[in-house]
Amino acid sequence: MAGKLLIIGFGPGSFEHITKRAREAIQESEIIIGYNTYVDLIAGLLSEQQVVRTGMTEEVSRAQEAVRQAKLGKKVAVISSGDAGVYGMAGLVYEVLMEQGWKREGGVEVEVIPGISAVHSSGSLLGAPIMHDSCTISLSDHLTPWELIAKRVEAAGMADFVIALYNPRSGRRTRQIVETQRILLKYRSPLTPVGIVKSAYRDRQHTVVTTLEDMLNHDIGMLTTIIIGNSATKLYEGLMITPRGYQRKYTLSAETQPLKPHQRLKSEAEPWALEQLEAEADFDESFEAYDEEGELIEDDESEEIAEPALLKSSPQAQSSNSLQLAMEALQLVSQGKDSPALAFDSKLIATQAIFEFAVSPGVANKKMSAAQLCALGEIVGDRGDIEYSPHHQLIVRVQTDDPNRITSELSALGLLLSPIGDVAQIKACDFCNLEKGDSIPYAEAIHNRIGNLEVPKELKIGFNGCGMACYGAVQQDIGIVYRKEKFDLFLGGKTVGRNAHAAQPVAEGIEPNELVDLVTRIVERYKKEGHPNERFHKFFKRVKEIEGYRHQEAVGFVIENALCGD
Ligand code: SAH
Repeated sequence: MAGKLLIIGFGPGSFEHITKRAREAIQESEIIIGYNTYVDLIAGLLSEQQVVRTGMTEEVSRAQEAVRQAKLGKKVAVISSGDAGVYGMAGLVYEVLMEQGWKREGGVEVEVIPGISAVHSSGSLLGAPIMHDSCTISLSDHLTPWELIAKRVEAAGMADFVIALYNPRSGRRTRQIVETQRILLKYRSPLTPVGIVKSAYRDRQHTVVTTLEDMLNHDIGMLTTIIIGNSATKLYEGLMITPRGYQRKYTLSAETQPLKPHQRLKSEAEPWALEQLEAEADFDESFEAYDEEGELIEDDESEEIAEPALLKSSPQAQSSNSLQLAMEALQLVSQGKDSPALAFDSKLIATQAIFEFAVSPGVANKKMSAAQLCALGEIVGDRGDIEYSPHHQLIVRVQTDDPNRITSELSALGLLLSPIGDVAQIKACDFCNLEKGDSIPYAEAIHNRIGNLEVPKELKIGFNGCGMACYGAVQQDIGIVYRKEKFDLFLGGKTVGRNAHAAQPVAEGIEPNELVDLVTRIVERYKKEGHPNERFHKFFKRVKEIEGYRHQEAVGFVIENALCGD
């Protein structure tokens, strides 16, 4: 009679979390092979079986013994905690079989029975820390060189994975967790939520929710799993919750706002979105819900949504989106009760995108009125923020599902709104409190023609109304100075860095009626021929000539640029 290998993951350790198949498999086997503690954990399920107990480090001999017994025709259960395929016995048993030339056809039968791994049992006790892209890393260098483990920690930290650390520390192995924390602090905030779970679903179960900087001040041992949140993970009521997606930023112009607000958080546009439709068919339907202009076509057949889909086991229930299901579940548990769950606002979850834009009082005007500031303050509220930028603008960030209301309200108050990012911006002076205003129409004309135009890298066009150029027009990428009723032009300033330099004077006495077209041609060529991220001064140097103006190397000595903060 052919034997059989049953490789069983029995879950975290409690009886209720052992699957039905795992229980049956244990009962139908003749021999149980496992590490002492594991055999004790499933003792309640044993009857006649012969038990082979081994020590923890004898994994290979355990696998060999299992294969030997199965070849003798026995039904052998090899038990692992959690899932046998996660730092468990499954791989080892297959390795022994491969070494012996095992074939699926005619060889001993193998069945791997899945179990709940520590990442999931521990995760469930902490709230919902996994949720998004995640990885498991074992810090045990028993079978893996430490250099490789450190590299993986580094990569996972860099890629913002939620990380579950298995085998984080033992009596002898104490350095690895310290080093892991050090690596992760390079990429994540010290306040990143961290959950430490000891003996999940076992007698001495203990959970701690702490932070990345504080995690080493808690008890960590061989029976601990540590879960480190990603940059979006939040603490709430002592629980760790990782949102299903990341907050998304968008700004004003069509080019930098590829998705309209109603297109956001839909699975077809943003795969991480909450509204994930599971069935392929629903995917197509959701596309049809928009007309050609991309406007949302309201769906009147919303009754299906109103019914508690949770109670159905029909296909409709399966294809409902997960946010909807969560809302319905919440409604069911709080029905009739004055439950705080009712205070839960779906918008808080559904509308996480941040609308980001720049505000200024005008191209030439540098003064804001109290009414404008009040309106701005009201729109931003407690949750948004306003940042004072070095470019004559206030940067506003606000969570909203109605950006149009914000832009029309602020525009109506006479404020100038601009997108953020790689766009052209006119940085004009205040024309001596608007008193030397002859050239203002030219500044405004340039703004109307190319202001907010998307370019390879942010482009500042300095525009000053007299030869004093006190607002530093010549320090910008492009400088324009009004003097004696004509214009001087400067190209290719290097605005930042230790080797920053002013722009090169390329022309004096440009006729006013030629200026706007000339500047437009320069910027349009940069837009067309500039490499992505290539600053204007580099572009000028590379193409050597723009509109007949030849590039000249800036005088001075060359200094290596420092990284930000160095
Ligand atoms: N096959 C197992 C993992 C074995 S490696 C699984 O899938 O879960 C051993 C490590 O698993 C331990 O060091 C610890 O990090 C984790 N672990 C196993 N059981 C656990 C439990 N009940 N609670 C917390 N962590 C556990």
